[in-house]
Amino acid sequence: MSSKLEHENRSLKQQLYAFKKEASNNEALLKKFQERELALLASDSLAELLVSLTEGLRLSFNLDQIKLTLYDPESEIQKLLQHSNTPAECFTDVNFVNSLQDISCNLRNEDTPWLGPCMSGKHGKLFDVSESRSVAILPLTLRNELTGCIAMGSNDSKRFTRSHATDFLQRLAAIGSVCLENAINRELIILSGLTDALTGFYNRAYLERRLNEEISRASRYQQPLSCLFLDIDFFKKVNDTHGHASGDYVLKEVARRILSQLRGSDIPVRFGGEEFTLLLPQTCSEEALLLAERIRQAIHSTPVTTDDGLQLTITISIGISQTLAHEHEKLAGLGAALLHDADTALYQAKEAGRNRAVLSTH
Ligand code: GH3
Ligand code: MG
Ligand code: MG
Repeated sequence: MSSKLEHENRSLKQQLYAFKKEASNNEALLKKFQERELALLASDSLAELLVSLTEGLRLSFNLDQIKLTLYDPESEIQKLLQHSNTPAECFTDVNFVNSLQDISCNLRNEDTPWLGPCMSGKHGKLFDVSESRSVAILPLTLRNELTGCIAMGSNDSKRFTRSHATDFLQRLAAIGSVCLENAINRELIILSGLTDALTGFYNRAYLERRLNEEISRASRYQQPLSCLFLDIDFFKKVNDTHGHASGDYVLKEVARRILSQLRGSDIPVRFGGEEFTLLLPQTCSEEALLLAERIRQAIHSTPVTTDDGLQLTITISIGISQTLAHEHEKLAGLGAALLHDADTALYQAKEAGRNRAVLSTH
């Protein structure tokens, strides 16, 4: 009898010890999750949040692989990253997909993490399956809509299995989802204050901010930076003859044609009214002149057809300047000089008869 009690007692003690151990493990895990969640909430920008959701999680949880996949059918998130000067290519652990199927095919249930063995057929779209043996796929959702997923991978086949509890992971994913929405909305608000509603180009406030950054970058990497000042010829006549709405239509179409000639790294600005400024990083004045000619042709060669069927032949005058910032000891004033030189060249283009591009002699 007493030996039976002793045996029970020992077994209960062992159970109690196991529970205590599990509780203390859970406590440590909870602490780690809480730290990570606080880091997500503290991210200052979308770029910082993306790093926190990938590299941050990888380091915190000692993962062998991590990939964040975001549903971005209109490339809105990628555009926001481009605008904030941290293009999507900077984030090698983030995938942007056009199809929700690429995400949902990795989950059994769209609001529950999926844990189990890494399978080439199933997870190949998310990450390099040769590098992981078990995975945890955390769905990101907003108002019950799937928006992405976090794929965590481990070399240890027992790290993520179907028998593991998923509560902590689910909570982390929920916080990550809300942080993403906040960060995207915040960037959208910032961007709306920096862009022009009619053309979608940046506004002058943005140009002033960006100009100094580009001058510093050009100096650091010893690259030329060019600037184009563009002004529609006799635009007042378009308004006076055909009305303000037709004028607006022409402005939009001219902006669209300018944009069609630019590279992703070029910075298009509506300087004001019917005047545009283009900042062209890593571009010398000869290349800028070629671009100016292409833009001039794109606008002049095909008349703009307005909503009410008017065919308007529009021309544009362009002034071009460049700075070789690395040849200057002091960068202060270089931005203003770049704009001033392009403006002077534009004035010369107008004086010389319009519909032409003139290179600054400075
Ligand atoms: P120039 O060849 O010398 O540049 O002649 P211009 O007529 O283009 O220049 P001017 O500066 O005399 O006129 C610019 C006009 O652009 C006057 C203004 O009403 C018009 N404008 C400015 N902003 C807008 C806008 O947002 N929409 C419309 N429709 N017109 C605008
Ligand atoms: Mg003007
Ligand atoms: Mg004009």
